[in-house]
Amino acid sequence: MSRTLAKSTVSKLRETMEEERVKLVTAIEEHEQEIEEALQSESSSERIPDPSTAEGGTLSFEYEMAREVDEQLADRIRQIDEALARIDEGTYGSCTSCGNAIPVERLRFLPHAALCVDCARKRR
Ligand SMILES: [Zn+2]
Repeated sequence: MSRTLAKSTVSKLRETMEEERVKLVTAIEEHEQEIEEALQSESSSERIPDPSTAEGGTLSFEYEMAREVDEQLADRIRQIDEALARIDEGTYGSCTSCGNAIPVERLRFLPHAALCVDCARKRR
């Protein structure tokens, strides 16, 4: 552990991330509901295609777009989960690339940040 963040700061950030996670999960669920309804109205007599087995070409464009949004939301959840795991490991707040401390201001703005500003800039 290369740094010590105040416990109150960490628990506050954890809370923020957990709240965001709940919102993201809800958003995905609502979104999937919408996709399902759209698919049902699109082809009420046909069986709903299973996205895991359906071939890419058979999916409608709208469905593809919706999947993309879902993936972005899922990706954010993954980042939050990783950040929460880092809190448990005691490595939270350190850059996962160079190990430098991530400024608290950055964590307040982006609680799940895994990289310091320099490393994030280099990745872009
Ligand atoms: Zn770094």
